[in-house]
Amino acid sequence: MDVDPKFHLSQPPELFARVDQEPVPDEFAQSIVTTTLDKAINWARKNSIWPMSFGLACCAIEMMSMIASRYDISRFGAEVMRGSPRQSDLMIIAGRVSNKMAPVLRRLYEQMPEPKWVISMGACATSTGVFSNYALVPVNQVIPVDVYVPGCPPRPEQLIYAIMLLQKKIDQEKHVVEKVLNLA
Ligand code: SF4
Repeated sequence: MDVDPKFHLSQPPELFARVDQEPVPDEFAQSIVTTTLDKAINWARKNSIWPMSFGLACCAIEMMSMIASRYDISRFGAEVMRGSPRQSDLMIIAGRVSNKMAPVLRRLYEQMPEPKWVISMGACATSTGVFSNYALVPVNQVIPVDVYVPGCPPRPEQLIYAIMLLQKKIDQEKHVVEKVLNLA
């Protein structure tokens, strides 16, 4: 049987030969490199979250048990609780925010280096919860929030789930390299 010369193995079809030899345009080459770097940076960031040791009320007890051996947040790379906002990239608002505490919270948030994230843990932090009085303020009126955790108090598993959602959000961050190099 005669073999069609187009399908001869030692001679790649013309289409493939042409595609292989086409030069990659400069703009594509750049985006391929920065996209890959973006992914590497996002991967490193999402697996090394450093939360601040900071609790405001009863929700903080659940936050502490999330760190302890039973729930073991180190499985998600977020166990390095820092005592200083300058070394933290995650603030967990665990408890109600009073008017008196709001400026302190804001100051701590501003002292955290970029990039930084915030989880609002529990009904009190998010909406003043069962108290709902003049002394309290919802946390999103003081600082931006990335993930909200419902409940009073939320269980440690819920907080772990919030951290997993935050990891997903960090993973989808775009133009990271430009932001790091201050080009965005
Ligand atoms: S949400 Fe419930 S457990 Fe959390 S701080 Fe408010 S009252 Fe306490």
